Amino acid sequence: MLSYTDYKTKAAALEFRTGCWIDGAFVPSLSGETFPSINPATGHKLCDVAKGGAADIDRAVISARTAFEDGRWSGKTPAERKEVLLKLADLIRENLTEMALLDTLDMGKPISETVNVDAPGSAMFFQWHAEAIDKLYDEVAPTGGRDIAMIRRVPLGVIGAVVPWNFPLDMATWKLAPALATGNSVVLKPAEQSPLSVLFLAELAKEAGLPDGVLNVVPGFGEDAGQALGRHNDVDCLVFTGSTNVGKMFQRYAGESNMKQVWLETGGKSPNLIFADADLDQAADMAAFGIFFNQGEVCSANSRLLVHESIKDEMVAKLKTLAEAVVQGDPLDPATTMGAMVDAEHASRVEAYLKKGKAEATVVTGGARCTIGTSDAFIQPTIFTDVAADATIVKEEIFGPVLAIQSFSTDEEAIAMANDSIYGLAASVWTSDLTRAMSVSDALNAGTVSVNTVDALSPMTPFGGMKQSGFGRDLSIHSFDKYTALKTVWIKF
Ligand code: NAD
Repeated sequence: MLSYTDYKTKAAALEFRTGCWIDGAFVPSLSGETFPSINPATGHKLCDVAKGGAADIDRAVISARTAFEDGRWSGKTPAERKEVLLKLADLIRENLTEMALLDTLDMGKPISETVNVDAPGSAMFFQWHAEAIDKLYDEVAPTGGRDIAMIRRVPLGVIGAVVPWNFPLDMATWKLAPALATGNSVVLKPAEQSPLSVLFLAELAKEAGLPDGVLNVVPGFGEDAGQALGRHNDVDCLVFTGSTNVGKMFQRYAGESNMKQVWLETGGKSPNLIFADADLDQAADMAAFGIFFNQGEVCSANSRLLVHESIKDEMVAKLKTLAEAVVQGDPLDPATTMGAMVDAEHASRVEAYLKKGKAEATVVTGGARCTIGTSDAFIQPTIFTDVAADATIVKEEIFGPVLAIQSFSTDEEAIAMANDSIYGLAASVWTSDLTRAMSVSDALNAGTVSVNTVDALSPMTPFGGMKQSGFGRDLSIHSFDKYTALKTVWIKF
């Protein structure tokens, strides 16, 4: 890690890419309109970014379709695609500080996280998918006789990807790496709050050897650019990460246009179950990490803590101490452990939940919005206890550093409380009893259950939700399923 002074100096000298990236070049939006990119930690403008709309999406889809049809990427062998994507991973690593700074400035998260998690994570995910792609075999069905029935995995064509702002580079990478590895062309729409790192990524992809038109990035707003992509008749598949409400819109857009495939990674309200036989110090440390990491702006944040009644007071005390040790401040300072909310509007949304929480539960610590320097987009790490099962702060995704603690008396009650949610993205279980670990994990409705840890995640394991947390999986070999169709070629001889 560099020093605070070094990061500030580098941030001041940073170059921003601000156009739409179409056909391998930055171009202004066709309307000429722009929107400001704001650093939420200061409230100051970083730059003006092209505001892509339906016409720009159309231009990008034409570019992607042309590239797909002429085979400049789709026609390359898996090994050739692997080489380009490995080179891209190398370039991300070479430009790691710049990438990290872009996400920190654009989105407000601490530099210690973008340098150690987001930027290296993007390189790792590209590398993993690149290395996997020339190890996937097609199949031959056991027909017997004078028949050969090949089951081939083929790219879908043009993928539309719409992603959120909480991990701007990594959420885009989770879509791009498998989509590109399998030979598709992509039109990516980043969140309007955080377009800067993926615009730089697009430029690096070209430098790595990705042919023009294979990756297009159209910055813009959800209702126009996002909707235009969702409704485009020449997009074969739409992959989305974001809120549940917008995810449902993409299902509608697809149904009202060309019935494109839609894969959704949406919201969560993940439970963290701590049993009395757990290692309580470790459980408390990770419970704090599970809700305060990335300002709580994590889809799988462990925002509901379910503790056995016999250890509740002890856990509340431990978590209070941990919450009060969080260092809020300038995200460019390596000592900062919690930055700003993504923007003032989101800070207001979280603040409204704090008000609701105060009316329906007891504040253990925090509970307020705060001003640091010139920005009021900061929220104190907050813990509520004595929260009723039907409280708003237990039911709704807050997407901020706000933990709701409830207690249980039996395993059955804990499971019922954990599953009492419209979401099913992730869950954690803390116990030293293997039988309990297995039976509780089996009973939880969640795409990932972490035992004696939180948010376990790797490129090797699929990530995604059940219920209204969505469907389809990012990461792992299974992520390729979303970006390919199975084609049967049956030969009689
Ligand atoms: P959001 O749904 O508001 O926006 C996500 C994307 O959708 C953005 O690019 C936005 O511009 C676009 N969009 C917004 N309205 C649209 C519309 N009407 N039509 C088309 N596109 C539209 O979500 P957000 O606030 O950016 O991100 C937070 C949400 O993302 C949370 O709910 C969080 O749980 C979820 N998330 C889920 C995962 C996961 O893997 N399950 C990961 C990260 C974030």
